[in-house]
Amino acid sequence: MGEKNSATVEDYLETLYILQRDGVPIVGARLAEILGVTPPTVTNTLKRMTRDGLITANDIQGSLLTETGLEMARSVMRRHMLTEWLLMTVLKVPWSQIHSEAHNLEHTVSEMIEGQMRNNLGNPKTCPHGNPMPGFESFASSWFPLAEIGPGELVIIRRIHELGENDPDLMIFLEENGIIPGAQVEVLDTLPFNQTMTLKVKDHPVSIGFSIIKFIYVEKGPLI
Ligand SMILES: [Zn+2]
Ligand SMILES: [Zn+2]
Repeated sequence: MGEKNSATVEDYLETLYILQRDGVPIVGARLAEILGVTPPTVTNTLKRMTRDGLITANDIQGSLLTETGLEMARSVMRRHMLTEWLLMTVLKVPWSQIHSEAHNLEHTVSEMIEGQMRNNLGNPKTCPHGNPMPGFESFASSWFPLAEIGPGELVIIRRIHELGENDPDLMIFLEENGIIPGAQVEVLDTLPFNQTMTLKVKDHPVSIGFSIIKFIYVEKGPLI
């Protein structure tokens, strides 16, 4: 594939990949918000990426990854997710911190190391937060948004969306309260006027806001 992209461009590629995969229109303001930079900075970087053939403008979708851009985005997503697994399983970095640490390391992972990681980490189909590896999207397609689950239902937490992974405080909150992939929880109540849902996790009630719930996907339980 030739030359390597800068860390900045790789960060853009990841975000563009996630939004495009989810069918969310890619506009500058949204990118600026997610990446924590100013709109003019986004505009400049997108211009460079267009010039380099990584994205193309589209009237309805905003910016779209080209075939080349998509291939590179998939590569950086894979390196990110495998690095998360490495940090968690081998280096024992807490689940809530692997995303931000992997974010710094992923840019230096070579294709050779990526292959070694994949083979030695059991060829995972998702990251440790349950987000599907590129090519394994169907793996996550049978999971429901937690927001759709009613009181009294037992579910298994399967996935915390990538855009939730970006919030370190949220990740610590979820970890401390045991709301992580594999955990079985019961929905106790939903209070739309209060924008909250209460879950029972290991016999403890935990109240979470709708702004958090939107990142969580579940499998209908119970675990036997
Ligand atoms: Zn991550
Ligand atoms: Zn992850």
